Amino acid sequence: MNYKHLFGPVPSRRLGISLGIDLTPQKACTLNCVYCECGKTDELTLERKEYVPTAEVLGELRHYLTQHPELDAVTFSGSGEPTLHSGVGEIIAFLKREFPQYRVVMLTNSTLLHLPEVRSALLPADLVIPSLDAVSEDVFRRINRPRHELSSAQLISGLTAFCDTFEGEVWLEVFIIPGINDTPEELALFRQVFERLRVDRIQLNSLDRPGAVDWIEPMPRENLVALAHQLGDEVEVIGKPVIRQRCAAFSEDTRDRILATIRVRPSTLDDLAGALGLHVLDAGKYLDVLLGDGVIEQHVGERGVFYRIK
Ligand code: SF4
Repeated sequence: MNYKHLFGPVPSRRLGISLGIDLTPQKACTLNCVYCECGKTDELTLERKEYVPTAEVLGELRHYLTQHPELDAVTFSGSGEPTLHSGVGEIIAFLKREFPQYRVVMLTNSTLLHLPEVRSALLPADLVIPSLDAVSEDVFRRINRPRHELSSAQLISGLTAFCDTFEGEVWLEVFIIPGINDTPEELALFRQVFERLRVDRIQLNSLDRPGAVDWIEPMPRENLVALAHQLGDEVEVIGKPVIRQRCAAFSEDTRDRILATIRVRPSTLDDLAGALGLHVLDAGKYLDVLLGDGVIEQHVGERGVFYRIK
């Protein structure tokens, strides 16, 4: 079966071996984050609808999961905001009912959690990883570039309401952009919010691969660790990638095809995904591993970031 809405499984830094579910076309989102690895948001929207047919997603999941694959998680992520899809609650409920052995994980940018129907749709999930990259309105707009109707205050109040009712685990993710959301003023605001939020973990992240703009820099890991200490005992840094050997899903063949392609011609992420028939997030995970291994390097060209053999 040729899956249109599933990708991976991919080795995830936090979740182990994770099958991805992508519920939006590339790229529909409520935000247009400067660090987005999927590039610029084409459809900046708040409209909740059936972006892809729910029945098709359920059919693919049933087909894939009845083969009893070895997975640590089934994760809603993909190339846009999953809670924009109006069928997300039905899909989560289906997974918990038909395949309860798999951990259901939701990555969300938190922007729609002020809606009661979105909060209740997520309730059966096992783990929700919401993002919060800014507390002040100004920094929220600079980093996340939201639809104009959204505000940081609304996001935080929706997130707080969700955390107060959700019975699964919540790991809050904060993406750090040096010089923007690590100022003493913003850190003080983060501390105030962290004190109120009922979450299991707070994790700092930073740039791995180029984002939607070229002016952002990754924060070195040692600086991230120091920042986590400043923010509080409960704050940690997202771990290193799971080692590849643990990942039965890591295909040496796909790795070799990527290397063969960029050996002939340096390519962007989109070039590679298109040429090799991979989901853009799948291709990205392989590039992460190859960058981590020091086999390839990136450089900025006319059409964006290119990957080439080192
Ligand atoms: S990082 Fe996530 S929330 Fe931000 S624009 Fe990309 S898909 Fe949307």
